[in-house]
Amino acid sequence: VKKNGKNGYQLFSNELDNQLLLRFEMESDLRKAIKENELTLHYQPQVQALSNEVIGVEALVRWNHPTKGMLSPGLFIPLAEETGLIYDIGTWALREACRQMKEWHDAGGPLIPVSVNLSSRQFHQANLVESIRDILEETGLEAKYLELEITESMMMDPDLSTEILNKLNDFGVRISLDDFGTGYSSLSYLKQLPIHRLKIDRSFITDITQNASDQAIVATIIAMAKHLNMEVIAEGIETQGQLDFLTENACKEIQGYYFSRPLPATEVEETFFVPYRQ
Ligand code: C2E
Ligand code: CA
Ligand code: CA
Ligand code: CA
Repeated sequence: VKKNGKNGYQLFSNELDNQLLLRFEMESDLRKAIKENELTLHYQPQVQALSNEVIGVEALVRWNHPTKGMLSPGLFIPLAEETGLIYDIGTWALREACRQMKEWHDAGGPLIPVSVNLSSRQFHQANLVESIRDILEETGLEAKYLELEITESMMMDPDLSTEILNKLNDFGVRISLDDFGTGYSSLSYLKQLPIHRLKIDRSFITDITQNASDQAIVATIIAMAKHLNMEVIAEGIETQGQLDFLTENACKEIQGYYFSRPLPATEVEETFFVPYRQ
């Protein structure tokens, strides 16, 4: 145990030993979870604010832990990224999301895309593009119905990200820039990269009915997206007031608890897709 620590001698302290043990336990649990199908995807609808029409769903991973119950990704994605388990989880999530969306399409559900989150480690995975192409082929989902959510932190190496995004764009996958406005990168990449949509981060939405700075930032992002010919969606909408601000400022697409929480596939289907079927 001690040799594996980054902090050398400090690891003799009990607290760190315990933390490390917990980590190893969780890592082996997570390894097992992948093998034994304990991971599942929930889907959160993205809607056209004025019509309430569902225009897409975001796939969000959950871990149905045998003793700890349903765990949210914040509790295990960071560990998965550190350990490299994110490659397996990410590939699984992509395949499962595409399979599910194809199943919904085939059952007469709306022809909408599914958004899948990519971690920065995955983004730099050597065979990412091939792996996505294989998954689309395997599941039969048309590329235009897959949207990848990436973050500004992945744009740090402009040449590499340009190469990856151009390849993905070439075979028709959509790219969405998640948590927009929270990264530290410059805006210059926006003009050269094939980005279809900006997702305004929830941190700008939370106080938007009272906070003038947030209002200015959000209105500016909406205007910028429009000028750059990109779609824009706001996330984390929880109240009618927040929704009103966005629709008054011409942001037509929203995602948030106000409309729906992320739900298991069967509930999404029963709540939103059944009316579409003949
Ligand atoms: P994210 O991509 O920014 O996803 C949005 C998060 O906000 C989700 O949390 C969602 O449940 C939550 N959310 C949606 N609407 C509202 C709202 O109105 N109010 C509030 N307070 N929260 C809202 P979740 O599912 O816990 O996911 C957290 C993060 O974990 C995600 O943030 C994403 O970065 C990561 N994640 C989830 N699934 C995956 C995955 O399959 N792969 C990777 N690499 N990361 C994932
Ligand atoms: Ca996301
Ligand atoms: Ca986000
Ligand atoms: Ca986030």
